[in-house]
Amino acid sequence: MTGIYLHVPFCHSKCIYCDFYSIADRRLLAEYARGVIREYVARKDELSEPIRTIYLGGGTPSILPIDLLSEIVSHLPLNDVEEFTIEVNPEDVTTENVTMWRELGINRISMGVQSLDDGMLKWMRRRHSAADALKAIETIRVGGINNISCDLIYGLPGLSAESWRKDLTRLLSMPINHLSAYCLTYSRGTALYHQWEQGKVIPAEDDLIASQFAILREETARAGFEHYEISNFARPGFKSRHNSLYWSPQGKWLGLGPAAHSFDGSVRRIDIANTSKWLEMLPEPYEIDEEDELNRINDLIMTGLRTAQGLDLAIFDDGTRSKIEQDAHPFLETGKMHRNGAVLTINRDYWLVSDSIIRELMQI
Ligand code: SF4
Repeated sequence: MTGIYLHVPFCHSKCIYCDFYSIADRRLLAEYARGVIREYVARKDELSEPIRTIYLGGGTPSILPIDLLSEIVSHLPLNDVEEFTIEVNPEDVTTENVTMWRELGINRISMGVQSLDDGMLKWMRRRHSAADALKAIETIRVGGINNISCDLIYGLPGLSAESWRKDLTRLLSMPINHLSAYCLTYSRGTALYHQWEQGKVIPAEDDLIASQFAILREETARAGFEHYEISNFARPGFKSRHNSLYWSPQGKWLGLGPAAHSFDGSVRRIDIANTSKWLEMLPEPYEIDEEDELNRINDLIMTGLRTAQGLDLAIFDDGTRSKIEQDAHPFLETGKMHRNGAVLTINRDYWLVSDSIIRELMQI
């Protein structure tokens, strides 16, 4: 499978926990749109197979004025596209925008909801209320886009297990087909990290996070969602095809825009995470990531074991395969991992601690 990822590096403001590359200054919007078209035209031959998925991520792609978005989309290869996603924030969802997104060929919307508690939303510096998010889901649905994904965050300081269950069941009762749920992370460089360093915020206890993860699994299963990747849940037929590219050994994608990553099957390219410099460096605003063989193997182990599909050992040479089998042995013995033919998976009950299992399987 082959796709295009387009990073739109603009946000209305910065959320407390966010470490994605984005800027609030929107004066470069028009130049960015012209730049991303120029980059696409210069690099489109990096992928020879038909493009099946397009993902507009960010940042906040729903910030893009419709004329600029239409101009960008008019240059993209839409003929073979099966899934075309835009990430949006609730405050940008209007009947007019949904209609225009749909008319551009967008058939999937991924919306940052993050919480249904207004106090938590304010603390996270989100610009919308819980009611705005719920109304936005209705607006998208009425506007004719049925494939809706929402993002939620658990492990928030002060979030009780009961409130988490209440928010989750409320959101799952809405007409959505996909949920991405992430545990709050304290990434260096974020306002959240700074507050934590100053002792102004106390992270949730591990036991509480574990119970919120258990509630997440329970409620999504009850609502008919399959847990198909550590942080992702989907109703039948609604797994994210684009994100699955990143987890598949055969996935290839062209990443455009500041901070976007690309992989053409052998070379990884990383666009510079600075919009002004990115504009100056066009049409080749990237650095090649000189990935060695060991890194490639470790990437495959990590991405494969984060999914329900698992890690197919058949993709490795004999030596690597037997080393991974040897390292996996203790986890297979204790039931933390399963083996089906050549495929290894981590038992879903242990997905919350999968990082510690994956670390043991990493090749050094
Ligand atoms: S809107 Fe999204 S990308 Fe922008 S700062 Fe908030 S979390 Fe980050």
